[in-house]
Amino acid sequence: MKRFDVLVRGSGIVGQSLALALARLGLQVGLRADPVRRDGPPDIRAYALNANSVSLLRSLKVWDALPAQSATPVHDMHIEGDADDGVLDFSSWEARVGELAHIVDAAVLERELASAVRFAPHVTVVEDDDVEAALTALCEGKASASRDARGVHFEREDYGHRAVAARLSTDQDHRNIARQWFRSPDVLALLPFDTPRPNASYALVWSLPEARAQALMAMDERAFEQALMQATGGAAGTLSLQSPRAAWPLMRGRADTVCGAGWVLLGDAAHVVHPLAGQGLNLGLADVVALARVIAAREPWRDIGDEKLLRRYARERVTPTWAMGQLTDGLLQLFAHPAPAVRELRNRGMSLVNQLGPVKRWLTARALDS
Ligand SMILES: Cc1cc2nc3c(=O)[nH]c(=O)nc-3n(C[C@H](O)[C@H](O)[C@H](O)COP(=O)(O)OP(=O)(O)OC[C@H]3O[C@@H](n4cnc5c(N)ncnc54)[C@H](O)[C@@H]3O)c2cc1C
Repeated sequence: MKRFDVLVRGSGIVGQSLALALARLGLQVGLRADPVRRDGPPDIRAYALNANSVSLLRSLKVWDALPAQSATPVHDMHIEGDADDGVLDFSSWEARVGELAHIVDAAVLERELASAVRFAPHVTVVEDDDVEAALTALCEGKASASRDARGVHFEREDYGHRAVAARLSTDQDHRNIARQWFRSPDVLALLPFDTPRPNASYALVWSLPEARAQALMAMDERAFEQALMQATGGAAGTLSLQSPRAAWPLMRGRADTVCGAGWVLLGDAAHVVHPLAGQGLNLGLADVVALARVIAAREPWRDIGDEKLLRRYARERVTPTWAMGQLTDGLLQLFAHPAPAVRELRNRGMSLVNQLGPVKRWLTARALDS
């Protein structure tokens, strides 16, 4: 039997980051590979990562190893509602920060993390369950079997929507502007990206009801591009598909407890939010930072799997994860509401917020620091 201080189950971005962060504290970490082989095409998503996530990845020596064109800074964000006057703009200049976010290639990030794990002195990738550890960290994603086997109640609500993702190129410079359209009930995001064409590519995330998502997935490339042009009104130039399309079912989920004696939940295994605000992974990486900090600050006599210790982590994370779930859910419901009065109110609300500098700065600060 192999013995570790911590066993991390799940080697997604959260699991690998946690293994590296705990190894830096001098702990011996086992990283359990997924027992089910999941062969498939590479993940074509690109994630919007906030400054805290970037700072964690930098401290793990992963950020600076990313190829330059797989991480693109966002300087401005332009959001449109479903009426001409419903517009909201955020800028890094106004918020007095270098950038609002970075758009990062999901597959490249996973690959760089895997390479860092291979060379990390205190991390061992384990292929079986013949393992003993004082603490087991479950980072198995939203369908975590080990979480369910522990009897944790995971409250889930399926939205009945899918997110269609793809890589696009355009004939206009993206000027590092992220664009988003809230068109009841669709939410379409174009995230500026530099691959395949530097300064002229986008990562698409288009959330829409199941039937419409299926129809978009079934369209040939030309018809899909036409649908995109219709939805964006040409604001981002002439868009062309540069990758296959992929779709994800969307849900909201929340575990009723995130720790017990000798175990803890992180990332999507603990909480799932709608991707409209691009915050799911940011929350998971903030979990990693919080757990590593709590463990590093423990009393010398306290065991690493002590439930009292793990509750400090749970207390720290409960409010930010709950608030982000409420915010994304609220926005979704507000923009999905078909009533003309609600429509008018939300578009007026957007233009009002757009004119209120302090409110905008407050909103930007919240988004930068999930
Ligand atoms: C379309 C879309 C766009 C998104 N965009 C953004 C964004 O812009 N910004 C952002 O912050 N977030 C975004 N998210 C959310 C983000 O994808 C997730 O929050 C993030 O991937 C969760 O990471 P994770 O490591 O917790 O889980 P996962 O990525 O699901 O990884 C879990 C890992 O555990 C493995 N595993 C499963 N079961 C077991 C087991 N029994 N034993 C061992 N291993 C196991 C799996 O194979 C997998 O490797 C988006 C989500 C979607 C759907």
